[in-house]
Amino acid sequence: MPLLHSLGTAVNLEKMQSLMALPSRNSLLSRFDGLPSFTAQSLGEKHLVRQLSCTGCPIGCIHVGHYRRMFGSDSMEYEESHLPYDFATVYALGSQLGLQTPDDFWALWEKVSGYGLDPLASGAALGWLTEAFEQGLVTEKETGSPVAFGYVEGYLHAVDGLVGGETPLYRDLALGATAAADRWGGRDYVTEINRRATTGLHTGYDSFLSLALGFPQPEFVHPLPTRSNPEPNRMVSNLIAEQAGNCLNNSLGLCRLIHQVYDLQTVSRALKTLGYKLSPRQLKIKSYDLYHLQQGLNRRMGLDPARVTVPSRLFSIPTAQGLLEQNRFAEMLDIFAKQSWGTEKEGMSFG
Ligand code: SF4
Repeated sequence: MPLLHSLGTAVNLEKMQSLMALPSRNSLLSRFDGLPSFTAQSLGEKHLVRQLSCTGCPIGCIHVGHYRRMFGSDSMEYEESHLPYDFATVYALGSQLGLQTPDDFWALWEKVSGYGLDPLASGAALGWLTEAFEQGLVTEKETGSPVAFGYVEGYLHAVDGLVGGETPLYRDLALGATAAADRWGGRDYVTEINRRATTGLHTGYDSFLSLALGFPQPEFVHPLPTRSNPEPNRMVSNLIAEQAGNCLNNSLGLCRLIHQVYDLQTVSRALKTLGYKLSPRQLKIKSYDLYHLQQGLNRRMGLDPARVTVPSRLFSIPTAQGLLEQNRFAEMLDIFAKQSWGTEKEGMSFG
């Protein structure tokens, strides 16, 4: 909790880089060469203006930085914006696009947040666009500007273009990198699974399985997992148990970032003060009830783990557990499908 307050989730940037597992340049590289300007310490010292909390939370992990910029050039007139930052935004709009300075990152993040866009989906879309442009799948006729890693002006123009539906390319890209690749090619440049962009915190098989199965991906990990070769059955069981815990925490308004603090004993004691008598065991059973309900709803709404494809790009760069193997990942998906057989029926029997 103190770590989240002082440095925020951005602290994971350095940790992932130290494992050569911080994706950069649309996941072509596994380390971010501009990181020294983007460490949690550096952002804190040079840009942090305040820490905010979600309602009722004593931690205040939301770090707000300031972006100061000049009107025009040589005007000596400035204005300032305050923007939140965390691991995911720096990963998606900084590292993945090869931006080298915090000012470039702030400029892009200000544009993306000003339009109300999701930073992860925007970063994945711009990453795909960069490679598609470099490889000649799309040209300046469609983009209206050169697009290249590290070239923030190109990205600023591209965001305007896709929000304004400037060209057919941008109208497709507004639906996401996967939709654009379906129409223009370049599936290998997509860094989404199930049309969801990754948070960039690639801890191992669990992070990609989470996206494939409709679970939330990690946003903060402390400490990072040790390098190991997890046994597939255990991996899937652990992930399901974690997701069941997430379902319980979500239903109680408890934040996922600090789930380790709220173990079942603590939650049971806290609920008792409010007059709810639920033992840790009863809470655990409830968590699986909620999990099955969620899975049933997911299936009814079209999520099918058997049809998930993971871009090969994501298997070619290391995670915190090293390089992942595609056939091992497929084995885990199979195990999940077998373990959750009948979930739809079971899930829909609740509520
Ligand atoms: S609820 Fe979670 S995200 Fe919000 S301030 Fe607390 S730790 Fe951070």
